[in-house]
Amino acid sequence: MKIALIAHDKKKNDMINFTVAYAPILKHHTLFATGTTGFKINEATGLDIKRFQSGPLGGDQQIGALIAENDLDLVLFFRDPLTAQPHEPDVSALMRLCDVYQIPLATNVASAELFIRSLERGDLDWRKIIDERESDKK
Ligand code: PGA
Repeated sequence: MKIALIAHDKKKNDMINFTVAYAPILKHHTLFATGTTGFKINEATGLDIKRFQSGPLGGDQQIGALIAENDLDLVLFFRDPLTAQPHEPDVSALMRLCDVYQIPLATNVASAELFIRSLERGDLDWRKIIDERESDKK
């Protein structure tokens, strides 16, 4: 599965703790992240991650572009609900695209834990059917 990992600054510690805890599962998947989030996760876990631009510099939009191609299976986006973000329109657009394409989106650690356990159980395997259909189209 292709998984995107994004965390706003005040949620980066949550993301690091989360990825350290679930690295044994995450290492079996293809990981993408916005710039700083990806750097910090890689530093803490050694996981291989394709990094995009930092979120405020377009990273959220780059991840949105993958969603628009139906090329992502899960988004874990630890948002900071208490701080105004300069790139709020990009954040909203990313979440909107998840809804357009029916991509599972977790915006906090509690829901991300449910998703990651579901992933391990195979509950998201329906995405493989969509991935196969998409690659047939290309
Ligand atoms: P960052 O971007 O990982 O580069 O900090 C995340 C964001 O703010 O959307």
